[in-house]
Amino acid sequence: MNVPFYDLSRQLAFLREEVLRELARVWDSGAFALGPEVERFEREFAEYFNFRYAIGCASGSDALLLALMALGIGPGDEVIVPSFTFFATASAVWRVGAKPVFADIDPETFNLSPKDAAERITRCTRAIIPVHLFGQCAAMDQFRQLARSYALALIEDAAQAVGATWEGMFAGAWGDVGCFSFYPTKNLGGAGDGGMLTTESQVLMERLRLLRVHGMHPRYYHQVVGINSRLDGFQAAVLRVKLRYLAEWQKKRAENARRYFELFEEYRLTDIVQLPKVAPQAGHVWNQFVIRVPSGRRDLLRADLAAAGVGTEIYYPLGLHEQKCFASLGYRPEDLPETFRASREVLALPIFPELTPDEQHLVVRAIARHFHGAAVIPSIPASLRAVA
Ligand SMILES: *Cc1c(COP(=O)(O)O)cnc(C)c1O
Repeated sequence: MNVPFYDLSRQLAFLREEVLRELARVWDSGAFALGPEVERFEREFAEYFNFRYAIGCASGSDALLLALMALGIGPGDEVIVPSFTFFATASAVWRVGAKPVFADIDPETFNLSPKDAAERITRCTRAIIPVHLFGQCAAMDQFRQLARSYALALIEDAAQAVGATWEGMFAGAWGDVGCFSFYPTKNLGGAGDGGMLTTESQVLMERLRLLRVHGMHPRYYHQVVGINSRLDGFQAAVLRVKLRYLAEWQKKRAENARRYFELFEEYRLTDIVQLPKVAPQAGHVWNQFVIRVPSGRRDLLRADLAAAGVGTEIYYPLGLHEQKCFASLGYRPEDLPETFRASREVLALPIFPELTPDEQHLVVRAIARHFHGAAVIPSIPASLRAVA
């Protein structure tokens, strides 16, 4: 690969000594499941983003499940979720025995449409889960308003949006509960699985802490039926180190995004592909840089890029309403037209913090070649002529 879609190795080398030192400390302490290192990380995470409470758990998927459990959502309840998201947003709803109700997206931001969500509210609706897709917050002021008007719980799937803001307020602070993931490719990623829940409510905080340890308090006395979903000491140690670099990495992602905007202009591609749209209220953290390639050319472009050694990804090739496992819910593909269209048009380009300007040039140049052929190539910096 000339330009990998994601290259974790650059960060691994940079952090190696610092992380290994911390891991050795946790090893010597013997506190592996929850424990003082997890408590330190919970405190630092909460302080960093000004959350009242932060509760660690085993994954972002578990965070969503625990949030629904803590809010008492179950059989007979409906929960409105986007279809254009990662599977876990809806599977959590399914697993508590409630019914996921899929709503369409705003085609500009790819995020859940407040208007479409509102139209799907019924007497059974108990909650809405907006997802802050690709690092940009959903329209949280509108979702908060909607939740208040209909007395619904509001759960944020902030797995891709650590540090993102909407009207200046952090993702995870708008809803009753915020759900984060520390899967390695997220903006704050551990060395394995991990997740975090945030809330302003003491009642919910206590319930979440109980639910993540089998509802057990005190030891071997079970108050409610919970699950086993602990964050471990090693992950907390890695994440504490990485939290110190987060601001710097977010800045690099934003610089990479800005550079793509310039390069797409320079290569005269802005009428051919659609670049990401950032809402004026949003502080985007660029977990992904996702373009739209209309008119059925996405897969051809992707194949050409792969041949040129440029890694890309498709988030997501199929809306959840079209997934086999949800067939019994009875959606037809065209029931959510914007989700349907987005899933056939989106293409994610490399945007990780350590990506270099030269690599970005190669990416956009390969896209220009696909659309313009060899003919229309603007000036190539000297540093790149060798590779071209
Ligand atoms: C990654 C992700 C999750 C799940 O997080 P895990 O830690 O992998 O379980 C949930 N929702 C969205 C939108 C995600 O991107």
